[in-house]
Amino acid sequence: MSIKRNYDEVMASIEEACHHAHRTKDSVNVIAVTKYVDSSIAKELVDAGIHHIGENRVDKFLDKYKSLQDNGLVWHLIGSLQRRKVKDVINYVDYFHALDSLSLAAEIEKRATKTINCFLQVNISGEESKHGFAPEELDDVIENLQSFEHIRLVGLMTMAPIDANAEELDALFAKASEICQTLAAKHIPNMPFTELSMGMSGDFEQAIQNGATFVRIGSAFFR
Ligand SMILES: *Cc1c(COP(=O)(O)O)cnc(C)c1O
Repeated sequence: MSIKRNYDEVMASIEEACHHAHRTKDSVNVIAVTKYVDSSIAKELVDAGIHHIGENRVDKFLDKYKSLQDNGLVWHLIGSLQRRKVKDVINYVDYFHALDSLSLAAEIEKRATKTINCFLQVNISGEESKHGFAPEELDDVIENLQSFEHIRLVGLMTMAPIDANAEELDALFAKASEICQTLAAKHIPNMPFTELSMGMSGDFEQAIQNGATFVRIGSAFFR
């Protein structure tokens, strides 16, 4: 496994997807999802040029954070978070991508000592197995979170079903983008909704085509 070569290949594909979508490559932030590897391999990616690190589990997040925090990185917790673990991790997190319940938001509000950039996770496909709010719940959620001082809603995060085809991916990501724009247009303080966290190794092209500003790439870096 050559991390440097994989990095170059992934970045070239992302640049091509941006070109295709008539976007600049700077408009897409690439989060390296390092859950498959240990800190020394993650460090190789950092040396290759990665600035954003993502982990989906608290223990692995803390492990990478302890080893790599001195590298000036941006830290993303991308997976669902249990309420009882919030206090262990939340103040190390720059972006939390999986805000999926009001009770979790309340716990973050209570434990955070700084403002946490959060994405509301939205379940567009309606798959039972997926976390996230249904689109029709979002207005209510936002209403409830307006008084929270430590939560800044930067945007929406969504995940596509594993078996979605290209057309379905397009429709799903377009829908997320449309909802996010509607929320941004409300101009609520601390809720800019300018960011879209969507796209993984298998579907980042469609995500970028539909406005993703953060892609979460794991396996493509480590094959
Ligand atoms: C693992 C993971 C990713 C990365 O998936 P790949 O297919 O390996 O690129 C992205 N987002 C979340 C929430 C993940 O858990």
